[in-house]
Amino acid sequence: MSSSTNNQGIHSAKLLCLALLITLGACSQEAAETPAQTAASSASNISTATQASIPVTDADLANAANDAEEWLSYGRDYGETRFSPLDQINDSNVDQLGLAWSYDTGSFRGLEATPLMHDGVMYATTSWSIVFAVDARTGEELWRYDPQVDRSTGWKACCDVVNRGVAMYEGKIFAGIIDGRLVALDAATGEEVWSIITVDQSKPMTITGAPRIAEGKVLIGNGGAELGARGYVTAYNADDGSEAWRFWVVPGNPADGFENPDMEFAATTWAGEWWEAGGGGNSWDSIIYDPELRLVYVGTGNGSPWSHEIRSNGIGDNLYLSSIVALNVDDGRVVWHYQTTPGDNFDYTAVQPLMFADIPLNGVLRKVIMQAPKNGFFYVLDRETGDLIYADPYAQVTWATGVDLESGRPNETPQARYDNAISFLTPGPSGAHNWHPMSFNPNTGLLYVPTMQGGAFPYSISEDYEYESAGWNLGIGLGTQVGKAVRPDDEYAEGTGPVYDSPGVLLAWDPATRSPRWVVEYPFTINGGTLSTAGNLVFQGGADGLFRAYSADNGDLLWEADLGVGIMAAPMTYELDGIQYVSVLVGWGGSSGLIGPNGSGAYKPEGRLWTFQLNGGEIIPVEGQPLPELTAIPFDDDPAVLAHGVDMYTTHCMLCHGAGGASGGALADLRYAAPATYDIIQNIVREGAFGGRGMPNLGHLVSEEDVDAVKNWLLSERASLME
Ligand code: CA
Repeated sequence: MSSSTNNQGIHSAKLLCLALLITLGACSQEAAETPAQTAASSASNISTATQASIPVTDADLANAANDAEEWLSYGRDYGETRFSPLDQINDSNVDQLGLAWSYDTGSFRGLEATPLMHDGVMYATTSWSIVFAVDARTGEELWRYDPQVDRSTGWKACCDVVNRGVAMYEGKIFAGIIDGRLVALDAATGEEVWSIITVDQSKPMTITGAPRIAEGKVLIGNGGAELGARGYVTAYNADDGSEAWRFWVVPGNPADGFENPDMEFAATTWAGEWWEAGGGGNSWDSIIYDPELRLVYVGTGNGSPWSHEIRSNGIGDNLYLSSIVALNVDDGRVVWHYQTTPGDNFDYTAVQPLMFADIPLNGVLRKVIMQAPKNGFFYVLDRETGDLIYADPYAQVTWATGVDLESGRPNETPQARYDNAISFLTPGPSGAHNWHPMSFNPNTGLLYVPTMQGGAFPYSISEDYEYESAGWNLGIGLGTQVGKAVRPDDEYAEGTGPVYDSPGVLLAWDPATRSPRWVVEYPFTINGGTLSTAGNLVFQGGADGLFRAYSADNGDLLWEADLGVGIMAAPMTYELDGIQYVSVLVGWGGSSGLIGPNGSGAYKPEGRLWTFQLNGGEIIPVEGQPLPELTAIPFDDDPAVLAHGVDMYTTHCMLCHGAGGASGGALADLRYAAPATYDIIQNIVREGAFGGRGMPNLGHLVSEEDVDAVKNWLLSERASLME
């Protein structure tokens, strides 16, 4: 990149930095984390007081919505409404919430799990897929299972080494492991009952999602669409881990033969040699099950690479990318599908939380499935047939003007198909809503959606794209892109949807009137998942570390507590011995948490599981670690060298170490690195010296000169901190 100084270049570089700062997802590096577990893949600290818990059965799961005391699965009930009938804590007394107990997790990365509670025991996960059980009355640790993940494989996780929780069934706890394993643990002791490998571990595939249970099967997907993978969901028999069926999201190479007629059909919607980079579609989050219809619903991911032009010559819908797919629970075959973003060109996954409920629409009770995927439209489908009932924008959308209810297809704007010019589109790759769970309160009829309006993202095709087996395969321009052509303003068509004043919004959406009932706007992008209760409450944490309770019907803020660390996970609630508790896991990281900005300000804080009750104790926020003292290190202030440094940093380092060199709070702030660390930067970046901490070897991607330029630019940023 030359030191372009034309105004257009400077202007677009600023825009790009802003847009990247706000919207891009990130990957996973540098595990400056010290879980003190040393036993190889085994449980520890098994309390002799632990009793074998009463097994959770299919009948228990079917009755979960009515069982107010417990929380048996990721979204509480099969429909994943995250609504609790408990009302001891309610809109008249929530301001008396205090600390019941807390548990320090030993995790210094993002925490995204929703804890489960059964028979007095709480089960949850931390980063690096560590599973733990605590006494739900006291927080006392009962057991802890560390799968001993090889930290040098952490780079395969696009969006931090996070985990969203466990499933429980028939005396076992099931967890997906970041390296692609699925394990079944004894619920009473945490000891491994079985462990299987669900992915080709030579490929960049990961598991971050919570397993789900359907008729004795454990359902699990995987991630990797950013790195060049072919996604699938597998059903394993809960008793022994044997495979029951596999749903491939996208077709493989036709020369190898198709696995089933669904793949043969899907292949008619692809062109070129799509299998080279996997095709993508990875279902890394939402998989739900309706026992009445005996359908498994899968939300599928984006294409690999992102660019439709590179992936499929710009031709075809590319099934089953970015779709809601209903599968027969017996064999995993497709019963119906609805594609939210045909020919995905934007990383607009439809893996976001799926929810089903029976709700009145135009006076008729309808069996619906609902989703607010990344692309900015809120979808309501008939969950028996897959027919689109409606799709409305719930945030600003500039890639389409709406969704045609006859064809079910979006009406794209001309800017949606970016070619060689940079096209700014909203939402960006982080989406208008991501994995952060939404909830539905049948008393108010409202859905509570953690919504983001992260600003326009600069999409453009990467002119020199080549498939990279050990790196990202986006097919779009990264780096500062200075000097690249930008689509002229007068070539943009009007989009649609509500434009909020703030980057983060708690949206109370009324699916009956198809409109927002109320919104709360935040000055930061990331919002935690939501919980709603019969106490007319909605609970949500924020990037600023505040945990809040709102009135469910009108959005009034009723209570807030400073927990010290940005909150991403969804809260849950349960009752024991007549006392209602509310719990939330708090740990900063995840895709947007790595790139920043850091709302709470805490640097490398330890994650904590918090539990609250009425008239509890004092809430003392967690503190992060102090930033190191800075000493001056000389650098070259040649503008061309600095420009190359920031371009290389933005391309290869920013997604993990933060925009502008500023850590998002979870990983090392490189501007503060010790002089001795800078001395060995070539070894770290190009030879994998810090592989054991999760820092990948980038020797195949960057030259010695590139690394020197990054170092030089970081030192200039360091110097500006000392001014
Ligand atoms: Ca993605």
